[in-house]
Amino acid sequence: MTCREFAEFLDAYVNGTLSTAQRAEFDRHLALCTACTNYLQSYRKTIELARSAKRDVELAADAPPELVRAILAARKARPE
Ligand SMILES: [Zn+2]
Repeated sequence: MTCREFAEFLDAYVNGTLSTAQRAEFDRHLALCTACTNYLQSYRKTIELARSAKRDVELAADAPPELVRAILAARKARPE
């Protein structure tokens, strides 16, 4: 397996969709190639960051309606 092939299969590897034979080839390349080991690590980190960024966006999107409800409730509760 070449570094180029490694990069092409990286997504499938991370998602666990490689066949057993492909995975064995992949792991063998990984054991021999420091560049691809580093690449895999940064790839995984990127996925993690993307996931947490998405979570933050979801939280931010969820927050405003609750905030609005809380403000409305506070206004109603306050005697005029
Ligand atoms: Zn490589």
